Parts: sequence; C-alpha cells; structure tokens
Amino acid sequence: MGLLSGKEVAEALKAQMAKDVEALKAKGVTPTLGIIRMGEEPNDISYEKGATKTCEGVGAAVKVFAIPREASQDELLKVIKQVNEDKAIHGVLLFRPLPKQINDNVARAALLPGKDMDGITDGSMAGIYSDSGAGFPPCTAESVIKILDHYKVDVAGKNVVVLGRSTVIGKPVSMLLLKKNGTVTVCHSKTKDLPKKTQEADIVVVAMGRAWSVDKSYFKAGQYVIDVGVNAKPNGEKGTCGDVKTEEVEPIVAGITPVPGGVGSVTSANLVCHVIEAAKVASV
Ligand code: NAP
Repeated sequence: MGLLSGKEVAEALKAQMAKDVEALKAKGVTPTLGIIRMGEEPNDISYEKGATKTCEGVGAAVKVFAIPREASQDELLKVIKQVNEDKAIHGVLLFRPLPKQINDNVARAALLPGKDMDGITDGSMAGIYSDSGAGFPPCTAESVIKILDHYKVDVAGKNVVVLGRSTVIGKPVSMLLLKKNGTVTVCHSKTKDLPKKTQEADIVVVAMGRAWSVDKSYFKAGQYVIDVGVNAKPNGEKGTCGDVKTEEVEPIVAGITPVPGGVGSVTSANLVCHVIEAAKVASV
C-alpha cells in the first residue's frame, strides 16, 4: 500500500458530501459553517481559505464573523451567542488560540456542543467518552479514523499505540480507536522505551509535534502508521514535515501517511462533513 494519501480520502469524502448537500438543498437546507475569527492570524486565514474552498466545492456555505484581535471577551461572547441562536448556521469553527484577554474556558463553554464542529467544548468531549453521540470529535482526531476506514485497515482486535495524549489529538483519537475495538496503548513524554511499545503494535498513531523524531527503529513490517505531526522542517528548509522520518519508514511498513498530503488534507474535509451532519440533524 505504501503511502496512504490523505488527499484521496478527502476526495472520497467530498464526493459523498456533494451528494448529501444536494439532498439537503432539495429540502431547502443549505449546510452553513460559521467561522469566528479574532484578528488576521496567518494560520487562521490559511485554514479559513481551505475550509471555504472545501465548503464551496461541495455546495455548502460559509459565513465569517471576523472581529478585531483586541476585541473584549464580551464582544466575542456576543458573537458566539449570535451564531448559537442563528438557525441558518449549522456548525461553528472558533479559531484558537484566542488572544490573552479572552478566557478560553469561558469562550468554549459559551458555544453549544451541537454547533461545535471541532470538539472543543466539554459537551463534545463528554460525547466522545460517553458514546452519547453529543457534539463532534476534534476534526483531526477523527480524520485518523477516516483514513483507516478508507484504506480498510481493520482496527478491531488490533494493538494500537498512540504517541501523544493531548486533548485535541492523543486522547480523543485513543477513545475513537477504542470504540472501534482496538486495544489501545497511549504513550507520552514519560513513557519508557517508546520503540519497544511501537514495535508491538499493528497500528501506530504519532501525534507528538516533534519533527522527524520517530525513525525506522520504531517499526516493523506489516504495520500501519498515521503521522499526525505538522512541524516546521528542522533542517531550515521551507515547508512542513511530520513526526516520522517517512522516507526511511515507508519501505518497512505496510502503509504510512505522508506529511504534507496526509492527515492534514483530511482535516478540513472532515470539518465540512460535520457541518453537513449538523445540517441533517437540523433538517429533521
Ligand atoms: P501537544 O499538545 O504538544 O501534545 C504533544 C503530546 O506528545 C503530549 O502528550 C506529549 O507528552 C507527547 N510527547 C511530546 N514529546 C514526546 C516524546 N519525546 N516522547 C513521547 N511523547 C511525547 O501537541 P498536539 O496539539 O497534540 O499536536 C501534535 C502534532 O499534531 C503537532 O505536530 C501538531 O502540529 C499536529 N497537528 C496536526 C493537525 C493536522 O491537521 N494534521 C492538526 C492539529 C495538530 P506529555 O503529555 O507527557 O507532555
């Protein structure tokens, strides 16, 4: 299988989304994403462009709520209340990190879990751990599952090792893998002998944010590797790289996602999937 292209997964998701949007529009519903952005942070602008392109490509709509970076917490809360109450907006993406005058917990708590498209509210997180179906998982964490599903990598009964335990990736992806009946081991910076742990796995998800830190000594034949890392190249070259040394690992394992062109390519498509799912719920 070699390289597991995230672009291919995103294209398949988009093809399905275009059909879903058509069906929703026939019922008079246009799935609409509300984006709340404070200021003009380059990362936010770049993600907004990608999400807008994906939405427009499948026939969904985007409404951007841009407020100055120096706006007060009350001003932000007013916008969040507005999108919560707007029935024509099915899902919301709130760009973080927020500026320092905003209490992140207060902002997250203000957003309705049903409108939270990127699993940032406590309600969405509870939904992942309780299997209640409330809210949506973080887009990137769920993209890992969508990639495994697309390439028909069965998780049930497999040993899965996750490197990283952040709230946005490591923990939620571990819960999603557990839900798929994987036997999941979560590793972190205090874990001893990481290569021994990963060598015992069938599937390895790497989300440490450490450029090219995971080499071929971590892997064996037949494994599937999902590299979530997106890092500046440590050698000073332009562009991004993953946590894994893809070039030396790819010939050994059964499949590995590249960076760029892997998990990151699926993330914004998955965001729009969530908007369409929320629109379906609203249209019933
Ligand atoms: P994070 O919050 O910094 O968490 C990193 C995790 O890795 C922590 O749990 C940390 O352990 C663990 N870790 C760090 N160094 C380690 C080491 N040497 N050995 C074992 N574990 C180690 O990062 P994050 O937000 O989860 O992001 C991880 C990566 O994913 C980053 O490169 C980020 O840019 C990328 N990312 C990609 C996408 C995408 O769309 N593809 C989206 C979001 C993020 P401790 O808990 O013990 O500190």
